[in-house]
Amino acid sequence: MSELQRFLFDGLPVRGAIVRLTDAWTEVLRRRAANTETGAYPVPVAQLLGEMLAASVLMHTHVKFDGTLILQMAGDGPVRLAVAQVDAGLRLRATASLSGVVPAGADLAMLVNPGGKGRCAITLDPQTRQQGQQPYQGIVGLTGDDGAPFHTLAAGLQHYMQRSEQLATTLVLAADESVAAGLLVQRMPLSGAGNLGGSAQDAAQSYERIATLAASLSRQELLELQPSAVLHRLFWQERLMGFAPLSGDQGPRFTCTCSRERVAGMLRSLGQEEVQGLLRERGEAEVACEYCGQQYRFDAVDVRQIFTEPGSQPPVPPHMQ
Ligand SMILES: [Zn+2]
Repeated sequence: MSELQRFLFDGLPVRGAIVRLTDAWTEVLRRRAANTETGAYPVPVAQLLGEMLAASVLMHTHVKFDGTLILQMAGDGPVRLAVAQVDAGLRLRATASLSGVVPAGADLAMLVNPGGKGRCAITLDPQTRQQGQQPYQGIVGLTGDDGAPFHTLAAGLQHYMQRSEQLATTLVLAADESVAAGLLVQRMPLSGAGNLGGSAQDAAQSYERIATLAASLSRQELLELQPSAVLHRLFWQERLMGFAPLSGDQGPRFTCTCSRERVAGMLRSLGQEEVQGLLRERGEAEVACEYCGQQYRFDAVDVRQIFTEPGSQPPVPPHMQ
């Protein structure tokens, strides 16, 4: 079962989280494989998408935020778009759209950024957005300070967190066809560290020691071992304090938030002419959710309704009401 566990080190300004997605991840892959138009994800794409999901869960854990975290890549290579989403209740979903041939063994740079125009962003979309409020967005660079492209997602996100939050971070990510997993270890913000006593130098040394242990975790170990076994193997000499693991309906799980109403809204934004065109061509407008594969069909009567329902017309300006 998929599981997330947060942990702290007694007396040290270091926090962490480990996630292991099994059923939640294979459900994403199974639904894609069942789509006869796309077929299954090529191995390197599945690996990237699984790592994006694991990273999204870990990052959501450490932002105090009631909403959806969206990690998104827009690429100039075979991966045109890849999206991973995790909400505050740890419900998650992911999708990627591809173009052309995916080379075997392709890494992040080859998949998303071969021409140097790839983009990666983290969006925090609040559950209830106040009027006019924009979601927060941070841009994740796909190249390091030396201009060389990052070859792994973990390297890019580590660099981002160091830069944007000024928090030293160590991230290990891995995914295959049955598991997507990640380990994050982070120096805590200074206000928290102040309460724990000890000098800044001690704190830095403690973080370095724990980060070195975390970075020694191999991708294979991360994929094969249960979270408790990973933590024991790495930190058995540390005073580790683990929170209760979250699993089942409290833990990370696949859920799609698509609905017929949302798809209707999308058709509405396409415009009546475009949708009527689809109807003429095929007799009905058929839309499949790219996250879960659910098919939504709209016939001529449905379409007429979409464009006559309240809300389908532009609002009347106040002076004309
Ligand atoms: Zn869906």
